[in-house]
Amino acid sequence: MDHFEYRGRTLFCEDVPVPEIAEQYGTPVYVYSTATLLRHLKEIQTAFAAASPIICYSIKANGNVSIARLMGEHGAGYDVTSGGEFYKALRAGPKGAKIVFAGVGKTDAEIEYALTNDVYLFDVESEEELHAIGAVARRMGRKAAVALRVNPDLPPKTHVKTDTSVKGVKFGLDIETVLEVAAKVVDHPGLTVAGLHMHLGSPILKAEPYKLGCDKAVQLIAALRKQGHPLTVLNMGGGFGIHYRKQEALPAGAFADVILPAVKETGCQLVLEPGRFIVGNAGVLVSRVLFNKETGGKRYVIQDAAMNDLIRPTLYDSFHRIWPVTPSPDVPVRPDDYEVAIPGTIPQDVVGPVCESGDFLAKGRHLPPLKRGDLLAVFSAGAYAMSMASNYNARCRAAEVLVTGGTHRLIRRRETHADLVACEEDCLTGTAGAQ
Ligand SMILES: *Cc1c(COP(=O)(O)O)cnc(C)c1O
Repeated sequence: MDHFEYRGRTLFCEDVPVPEIAEQYGTPVYVYSTATLLRHLKEIQTAFAAASPIICYSIKANGNVSIARLMGEHGAGYDVTSGGEFYKALRAGPKGAKIVFAGVGKTDAEIEYALTNDVYLFDVESEEELHAIGAVARRMGRKAAVALRVNPDLPPKTHVKTDTSVKGVKFGLDIETVLEVAAKVVDHPGLTVAGLHMHLGSPILKAEPYKLGCDKAVQLIAALRKQGHPLTVLNMGGGFGIHYRKQEALPAGAFADVILPAVKETGCQLVLEPGRFIVGNAGVLVSRVLFNKETGGKRYVIQDAAMNDLIRPTLYDSFHRIWPVTPSPDVPVRPDDYEVAIPGTIPQDVVGPVCESGDFLAKGRHLPPLKRGDLLAVFSAGAYAMSMASNYNARCRAAEVLVTGGTHRLIRRRETHADLVACEEDCLTGTAGAQ
């Protein structure tokens, strides 16, 4: 249940008709459901309750401050991958919210910023980074708590661009060398090797990779403790899959079944970094049809959302369900399966206005004939959607609206033309930005 339901022949987000939102805020617009966000966070909290986990919401999935705040208010910490995300976590989070800092390229300034603001844990991805963190911490008279991010070298499990635990990717320390690296920092005055971190990639639709990863983690934790490191944290990252096509995702409990035994065996504090699982199905992108067009035997529907709003189809060949916000009586209200021929539909490419042939939201998609002004909903667009949006083609980034029950609130205004030049300077007149 994602709280996006058709009532009659109109899509609702919770108790708000989606056309009302499109009317008030314009399109394209991202619409999020509070109940769905909280339901998914709760599902993880409940499934892992036996381990009293620290759940660090992954800000890069959706960094809107209102959404991040909602997470913090309901007991989550934050997983960040840059100084900018750290700043957002501080802005959004309640005092004392735990922040873990991952990413392969932290600058000294970011490391210092994190230490100044009491980062809970650095997820360390290379030997040079480990020593850089140690050096910054020493200079500040601090001791940095780090978790060694290990690449467990597992078989491929998701799209090549989002798999982070196969051999040769840039993420983490090689499992063969992690002990060697760790041996050099026993008793380091600026470092406490407090944890082991694994983020396997995303989205993952099976529990097996976590089982394999945990088996390796248990052995490594024992070996690191033997070296003299006071390991107390097992951070299993994020990556839990969601429903993009049908009901293909596993419940959080399936992941808990394979992760909890490792937590018990090692006696570690469990940290998780879910992003997509919480916010992915909690958002839709609503767009309006501009034109229809036929060429080369293909039918195109041109609508006002583009790759700059949602790049996942272009970047990862991702599938997002797309359906009219107010489907006509000639088609099912909501198909069970979007990948088969649906009565009353014809295959169409759903494209946007951006000047790239790679600008599409779907190809050969079964959709009813659409007309100018019709609204489309692109489902499961809460994660890695708005957070990856750009201004390419000088397009203003979309508005974001948060629905709670029968009320809706603008949580990010649509950008204006003035915003597009706000950071630029006119070299002829020397005037800055929007003058
Ligand atoms: C992106 C990322 C996550 C979140 O992944 P999801 O698939 O959104 O759960 C967690 N940890 C790290 C280190 C990441 O890079």
